[in-house]
Amino acid sequence: MKLTYRKYTVTRVENCTHDTKHVVLEPVYSTHLVVPPGKHIHIRGEREELELVRSYTPVIPLNSGTDSEDSELHFLIKIYMDGAFTPLIDDLKIGDELELSDYTGDFNINKLKEFSQIYLIAAGTGITPIARILPLLSGVKTTLIYFNKTIKDVIWGKELSLFSESNSWFKIHNVFSQQSEESQLSGRISKQVLEKFIYSGRENAFSCVCGPIPFNQEAERLLSQDFGFSSSSIHIFQG
Ligand SMILES: Cc1cc2nc3c(=O)[nH]c(=O)nc-3n(C[C@H](O)[C@H](O)[C@H](O)COP(=O)(O)OP(=O)(O)OC[C@H]3O[C@@H](n4cnc5c(N)ncnc54)[C@H](O)[C@@H]3O)c2cc1C
Repeated sequence: MKLTYRKYTVTRVENCTHDTKHVVLEPVYSTHLVVPPGKHIHIRGEREELELVRSYTPVIPLNSGTDSEDSELHFLIKIYMDGAFTPLIDDLKIGDELELSDYTGDFNINKLKEFSQIYLIAAGTGITPIARILPLLSGVKTTLIYFNKTIKDVIWGKELSLFSESNSWFKIHNVFSQQSEESQLSGRISKQVLEKFIYSGRENAFSCVCGPIPFNQEAERLLSQDFGFSSSSIHIFQG
């Protein structure tokens, strides 16, 4: 599929964690690209005279009281200093320009409406599609199991806690692979970790998963083999 690219300009860049930036972009011309929840777009930029394209998932600031976008698009982007593309994001300044494609992806939020319990399983920057759909699940019992190396890697930790405090239907559980704290569960994704949060009586439950490819594969395997989720009640966010 041939994608159309439009010029966007940087209106804000902030540090989100020690290695993740919150980048806000606005269209240069009066295009208003509406990106449906859970869809992603491609960002095109030039680095060292090479044109590079990478996929990113727009988010909406949590607790902003809105569940739709205005013309600004917000991104949470992890910087890999040895990466091909993201050093360009690290160097962005207000007024710099990037090109953004049409949206792509196969997620449909309407699919979730028939379920009474949603499990969201994310790792690292995999939180982006999850954070985008969260405000739209209002009132449906929702549990987020969020895997990171340490607490300092948690993206939007405060925002997610605040969202949970003001929405009793939403619970968040952080799991750290390189940090053990008395109050927190530690380890990688496993049956033992998931069974602390995924309860029996799952007939009407749906699960969304987003993380690196091996994480997604393991989550899908565990959900179907050990927790009885059918393929139609699991959505894996991937490119
Ligand atoms: C649908 C989709 C949505 C996405 N949404 C987001 C989002 O919202 N936010 C976000 O931050 N990211 C997101 N990503 C990831 C993003 O597209 C890029 O892959 C990421 O930003 C890495 O870019 P990079 O070119 O700088 O790093 P890369 O050059 O890809 O390198 C990343 C890291 O992997 C290592 N590496 C590279 N190649 C290899 C190899 N062959 N073997 C071992 N290690 C290797 C590098 O050393 C580096 O540490 C998404 C990806 C997809 C597919």
